[in-house]
Amino acid sequence: MDRTHYVNQLKNTENGSGWDFIVIGGGATGLGIAVDAVTRGYKTVLLEQADFAKATSSRSTKLVHGGVRYLQQGDVALVREALHERGYLRRNAPHLVKNQRFIIGNYLWWEKPFYTLGLTFYDLLAGRMGLGRSLPMSKKSVISHIPQIERKGLKGGVSYQDGQFDDSRLAINLLQTAVENGATVVNYVGVTGLIKENGKVTGVTVADKMNGDTFELKGKCIVNATGIFVDDIIRMDNPLKKPMVRPSQGVHVVVDGSFLNSDDAIMVPKTSDGRVMFGVPWHGRVILGTTDTPVKKFEMEPKPLDEEVDFILETAGRYLVRKPQRKDVLSVFAGLRPLAAPTKHSEEAKTKEISRSHKLVSSESGLITITGGKWTTYRIMAEETVDLAEKTHGMAHKPCKTRQLKIHGYKTNPDRNDHLYIYGCDRDKIIELEKSNPEYAKKLHPNLEFTVAEVVWAVREEMALTLDDVLARRVRALYLNAKASIEMAPAVASVMAEELNKDKNWEEEQVKEYTAIAQNYFLSS
Ligand SMILES: Cc1cc2nc3c(=O)[nH]c(=O)nc-3n(C[C@H](O)[C@H](O)[C@H](O)COP(=O)(O)OP(=O)(O)OC[C@H]3O[C@@H](n4cnc5c(N)ncnc54)[C@H](O)[C@@H]3O)c2cc1C
Repeated sequence: MDRTHYVNQLKNTENGSGWDFIVIGGGATGLGIAVDAVTRGYKTVLLEQADFAKATSSRSTKLVHGGVRYLQQGDVALVREALHERGYLRRNAPHLVKNQRFIIGNYLWWEKPFYTLGLTFYDLLAGRMGLGRSLPMSKKSVISHIPQIERKGLKGGVSYQDGQFDDSRLAINLLQTAVENGATVVNYVGVTGLIKENGKVTGVTVADKMNGDTFELKGKCIVNATGIFVDDIIRMDNPLKKPMVRPSQGVHVVVDGSFLNSDDAIMVPKTSDGRVMFGVPWHGRVILGTTDTPVKKFEMEPKPLDEEVDFILETAGRYLVRKPQRKDVLSVFAGLRPLAAPTKHSEEAKTKEISRSHKLVSSESGLITITGGKWTTYRIMAEETVDLAEKTHGMAHKPCKTRQLKIHGYKTNPDRNDHLYIYGCDRDKIIELEKSNPEYAKKLHPNLEFTVAEVVWAVREEMALTLDDVLARRVRALYLNAKASIEMAPAVASVMAEELNKDKNWEEEQVKEYTAIAQNYFLSS
């Protein structure tokens, strides 16, 4: 994974025959499209202005799911599609996607039959791709599965199965899959303009954020997969176009695993604002969330609002024996959903009611734009995008290969008690690294599981260039314990500096920049 080599490759093809696909954006959507296009045999490049999954794709609830909530809203087609995609993803990345049991505690008499029925329909929609049956549970059984569930008024429960994963790790694995199949994929290269000839988009101008170099790339299909930022690219094509996206913020808080003390997750089917809330075990901690707050700013580092955090803690507290407080929060993070901008008719619609299905359009100039959807549906979104690009640009159809494509790291039945399991088949190479140098086997912080070898691996094999790339998205230190991640930052910077041949000034700058980012991931008590 030599970024310099890839950037040089880009510059050298500048005036060459050009690319079949230029994909803008390295989140779930763009990475999925790069994998799809390159495995169909297209010459493909992906450009990401920051780090892979830096925006929305590292800030999800970490569920691979059909979306029980969308079923409540009657969006059956969306749920069916997502449930099938859940099955493919579970099959193609078994090292990352696991079966997760969710338990709904019932406190009213009608809830058990109601949710058992609804969730049985959910199971039926999954068809052969189902992960297991939904079942009613006695009060005793609920308590034995979730010892920390609030018992006052508890009448019983219902369990159902969904998928659970690590979002930015899947992004890295998709990047590796794309590269292994021949794509050129680079981070910190942003698209600054579109090149047009005779009214058609034929290329992009780009800036390398690492050194300020600018250059041009030419291609047949230019795909805009920039999440909440799609309107910036659309305006480069047509300054008069109405906005396609309106962001909605979702916040999560992370607390210690003892708050659930279970491998099972809890689901609250109706919060006071009419949404669902999850408490999901993740890397030994529990993720609680989320919220749905319309916002005006399109930011790479959105800030959680105090009222969102209080709402999550208060709601979780109603369903748990130990009520989580602000001081218990190990990390808090916000993400922005690229929801469809309201039309005149839906002007008044609340963001929670705006459909989560994706939007795919091609403009008169041939620019293809895709946004919305879910992590779970990234593969089908990619398939539809490449199909539309072929049609728009008069290319002969080549069949999509990703339904059966094993994703980098593929390994069945990983040992989930070993924190390195998420590397899948790469785990053994990290162990080899640890054996090659006693320093590499050392942990970087007493409260976090990560070792020096993982940092070395992230730089050598996963295109990590900054401290934030490593601590936020290669290992999930920032999301698991923000304060601890700041404490380990100088040690990580020193390991990276050695790998990247950087000096002390670079280390200090990195620690400063990282600390400024990480400040927003913990709460002042
Ligand atoms: C709170 C929350 C919870 C969620 N939970 C789930 C869940 O549990 N399960 C699920 O399936 N889905 C979930 N989702 C949805 C899922 O996270 C998103 O659908 C998905 O991550 C969107 O990916 P994306 O690639 O479209 O956007 P992004 O991840 O935002 O990627 C877009 C990329 O484009 C880049 N970019 C922008 N402009 C340029 C430019 N000019 N040049 C180059 N690059 C550029 C950005 O830097 C960014 O990295 C959740 C979303 C949120 C907000």
